[in-house]
Amino acid sequence: MMNIAQNLELSCYLFPNKPAIIFEEESFTYKDLDEMVNRVANGLRSLDIRRRDRVALFLPNIPEFVISYLGILKIGAVAVSINIMLKTDEVRYILNDCAAKAIITTESQTEYIQEPDLPQLQHILIAEGRANKGISLKQLMAKSSPEARAVEMSRDDPASILYTSGTTGFPKGATLSHGNVIFNSYCANCCYRIQKSDRLLLFLPLSHCFGQNAILNAGISACTTIILQRRFDPDQVLETITTHQVTMLFGVPTVFIKLLNMDTSNYNLENIRYYFSAAAPMPLQVAENWYKKFGFVIHEGYGLTETSPFAAYNHNLNYKLGSVGTPIANVEMKIVDGDGNQVEIGELGEITIKGANVMLGYWNRPFETAEVIKNGWLHTGDIGRMDEDGFFYVIDRSKDMIVVSGFKVYPTEVENVIYQHPAVAEVAIYGVPDPLKGEIVKANIILKASQTITEQQIIDFCYERMAAYKVPRVINFVNSIPKNSTGKVLKRFLRQESISQVV
Ligand code: ATP
Repeated sequence: MMNIAQNLELSCYLFPNKPAIIFEEESFTYKDLDEMVNRVANGLRSLDIRRRDRVALFLPNIPEFVISYLGILKIGAVAVSINIMLKTDEVRYILNDCAAKAIITTESQTEYIQEPDLPQLQHILIAEGRANKGISLKQLMAKSSPEARAVEMSRDDPASILYTSGTTGFPKGATLSHGNVIFNSYCANCCYRIQKSDRLLLFLPLSHCFGQNAILNAGISACTTIILQRRFDPDQVLETITTHQVTMLFGVPTVFIKLLNMDTSNYNLENIRYYFSAAAPMPLQVAENWYKKFGFVIHEGYGLTETSPFAAYNHNLNYKLGSVGTPIANVEMKIVDGDGNQVEIGELGEITIKGANVMLGYWNRPFETAEVIKNGWLHTGDIGRMDEDGFFYVIDRSKDMIVVSGFKVYPTEVENVIYQHPAVAEVAIYGVPDPLKGEIVKANIILKASQTITEQQIIDFCYERMAAYKVPRVINFVNSIPKNSTGKVLKRFLRQESISQVV
């Protein structure tokens, strides 16, 4: 019997006066956090929210996200995270898909919650701003008791639903059990070797599995201090690292790329002892440049929302640059061919994962679930290989692979080459349809400040380093590359944008 919210009860029992969350000018100890979570839990009960009811969180990274999330889990209800960037139709889709009974949001986000089309929704709670439409979370908490014990749940009871962010398709609600989340937060905690004295910086969205489980839940289970930020703002991040003596930095590759290209000489990064990246391929050149500049490796992890998310980790003692490491404890990974048979060492195939981290399934979608989980093995849709030491390498997503005149081109491979060019700050490679070749390779490139270079120079640089069919035919110099709220490049969006420009 278990409940992921017990993590907080335990941390509060051990270190009641230790700062748990620091946000802007506010600081909350573990005792403060525990009491606020209990008030939310009791408040939700007073609204007749029961075990297994779905409660949606449509909130930015503010302390109310954390206390609401834990309050929902505490009473055995299911926390449904909605990305703050979504608009009316997308929000409606999720609320109806999971039949949410309540939603916790901010005053400014209520414009995206149009009630007539939401038959199951009974309560709107406002956590920030005025509660003109709905109930004030603050008032509800004020009249609720600060005492509560977590409801005992079984390992397979649903804890949270995280809609896959849709970088490749239609959102589906990956449903994680209490067992999944507890297992994953402990594994993450063990992999990073979080110490009680650590100070974790959390700017990745709490609505995404990385921020929610691999940072927040991992940090709370380690009784550590989390410095919470609304979003990734590079200047603010450097400022916070300096003033709050941050010791552990978690990001996606685009975060590290941005920081690498900034002047950090006025900031003090010396307290940071650990860097971690996941969620997208880390370009080799970026990892190497980071090491040269800061003297630390960036540890890489691999996973999916469907694996809660942690699946593999590149360990400190057993580190291979370019690899995502080996499967975490109690998780198996293998590379299979199209028929599901394991391929030889070194051969490319689909990465599959089995273990305590694999989700229960997609909410109310048995057919889609059966398509990805076969005999307990989750089929990731990622192309990868395993080496003779059991290290895994993610080559690319199969959906992003480009086929030029029958030849396969993996965007990550081309990106890794272009990152070696000294003028390039950021690059995204994607494929677009071509009447002659099937598809052609395109590159969107952001140049470093005050660099000038021609398209032809990039193309020549590529010709010297890769087979001709992989060389981008079109180079676009751009000021920004579209990303989702986690900071992942939206390749699907780039492809669509490019096609619609032609049409
Ligand atoms: P979708 O909505 O299509 O499922 P998503 O980006 O919203 O996409 P996530 O669960 O956030 O879904 O991302 C999982 C994917 O991120 C993996 O399948 C893999 O392609 C990619 N990924 C995660 N970690 C790494 C890594 N270390 N290296 C390369 N790719 C990674």
